[in-house]
Amino acid sequence: MGGPEVEHLISLLARLPGMGPRSARRAALRLLRRPDERMLPLAAALVAAANAVKTCSLCGNLDSNDPCAICTAPNRDHTTICVVEGVGDLWALDRAGVYHGLYHVLGGTLSALGGVRPEDLNVAALLTRSGDGTVREIILALGATVEGATTAHWLTDRLRPLGVTVTKVAQGVPMGGALDALDDGTLAAALRARRES
Ligand SMILES: [Zn+2]
Repeated sequence: MGGPEVEHLISLLARLPGMGPRSARRAALRLLRRPDERMLPLAAALVAAANAVKTCSLCGNLDSNDPCAICTAPNRDHTTICVVEGVGDLWALDRAGVYHGLYHVLGGTLSALGGVRPEDLNVAALLTRSGDGTVREIILALGATVEGATTAHWLTDRLRPLGVTVTKVAQGVPMGGALDALDDGTLAAALRARRES
């Protein structure tokens, strides 16, 4: 159907989150019907983003600048760092506009079963940032899972000796990739209701 190029395009599209073979075929058809208007601009945007975007060496965010726009924003609260599992959590929180401090992306959670050790996560950079004398509070916004709780406990033990206050967002908030589904009011309430870890 459509030749090997189209089949290859569909198989790549089908690997994207939220896409299956059927939606991939529909998307491919939509692109192919207007190549100049839809397909070539998309191809150019993919190449441009792939070349420009890098991981922020301070917080782990994805941005075309390193350090990222959040880390360098003068109007943000540089005394507070919110620790999240992934960049998706950071983007969801920031889009909600309820938090104005800095972030730190761990890149996952500790997992004995999954073989994820502290050195596999972006932990060393967090400890360095937390002990720089500027930071006063670390907010842990990790998933309400066993791994999330284990990671929060482990981090609290290492952060507290640095002289920072360690807090956790209200339990029951599905962090760790599920933030997108939450409305801004729920996010704001979870942040307000944070307790010392
Ligand atoms: Zn950053």
